[in-house]
Amino acid sequence: MKKALSIFLVFAALILAVSCSSTANKVVEAKASSYSVVTDTFTYTYDVLADGIQAACGYDIPYTENAPQVAAANGEIRIYYMSSEHMKIDNGDFADRWGDCEFVVLPDGQTMLIDSAKGAYIPYVVSNLKKLGVTTIDYYVQSHLHNDHYGAMLSTSNGIMENFTVKNIIWADCAHTQSIADKFKAKCKQFGITPIVLLRGDTLEIGEVHVDVFNPKQESRGNYNFSGADEVMNNESLGIILTFGNFKALFSGDMYVYAEEDTIKAYTDDPSIFEGVTVVKTNHHGRTTSNCRQWAEFIQPVIAVTTRGEGIDLDTYKNYARYGAHCFGDHPDGYVRIVSDGKNYVTTTCSRTREMSTYKTLDTMAATIRPDLWPAN
Ligand SMILES: [Zn+2]
Ligand SMILES: [Zn+2]
Repeated sequence: MKKALSIFLVFAALILAVSCSSTANKVVEAKASSYSVVTDTFTYTYDVLADGIQAACGYDIPYTENAPQVAAANGEIRIYYMSSEHMKIDNGDFADRWGDCEFVVLPDGQTMLIDSAKGAYIPYVVSNLKKLGVTTIDYYVQSHLHNDHYGAMLSTSNGIMENFTVKNIIWADCAHTQSIADKFKAKCKQFGITPIVLLRGDTLEIGEVHVDVFNPKQESRGNYNFSGADEVMNNESLGIILTFGNFKALFSGDMYVYAEEDTIKAYTDDPSIFEGVTVVKTNHHGRTTSNCRQWAEFIQPVIAVTTRGEGIDLDTYKNYARYGAHCFGDHPDGYVRIVSDGKNYVTTTCSRTREMSTYKTLDTMAATIRPDLWPAN
């Protein structure tokens, strides 16, 4: 499809922390803490927070802006991948799957929360949203009903429903068991909400943001008994693409390879909604149950963010890097924030530097598999 274009320049800047190179694209700024590259259509900027803030990277989100106000004032979409690089170390419950939780502010100031993490992270979902100035969640999106995705919505009496005005709830009407489906519906009812069901082919307009739904398929609706098969539930994850101008963000929960391939098949004749994807949340916490090479090739994101609480699976990194994606993960990067005005975007991470061994290993590997995209050094 497209891009891959200038990513190698970004990589060079990040690895070497020096400005470099002369090809069709040019580095307009490259210093130790901020990098940006101009391409035909986008300016990609990678900001690393100042030292004082990096040190504070832990459970608490390091950003202090009133997100809805700033987004509305600037007419921009703001995405916060909630996570923390320290979670695994601090509490065994976080090991491996602390869960998913992505907070999105739309350009008109409306808010969307996609999933709500699990276990001991639940209080931080609430406190981090409050820190970002949130009082109302206009859309709560439940990708699927696994406990590492519904924690602060379903597993607590002091979560998002109790602390914020939740206006709309979206799900795919699929559940691991009947009892979880009943619990989810009861919680919605308790707060006077009739959940909206979205399935493949559905669309939604929220102000200037267009939402396409590509998973699960219509016939999956009402599946409430997967007999404990995690992979079936994961394959029923809600897959959505948010489009704002030239910026596209893709979220698809814990989809496994089966659903990835099924999606590719369903959209082969008309893949237009997948063209120009800017950022993807890697499926199933970046695991190799998912994120197959064909999927990476099909969507070709510019950025892939993994929320997991530990290192990124090498094969996942490789698959996305192979098609030009710049990979971030919560373990090395802490909370990742992406802001776009629909033309350009800025990615901010909490990582001290990509000189750390995690990225050294991965970046070296990327250079090996696609020397045309990544600089050898
Ligand atoms: Zn999960
Ligand atoms: Zn799951």
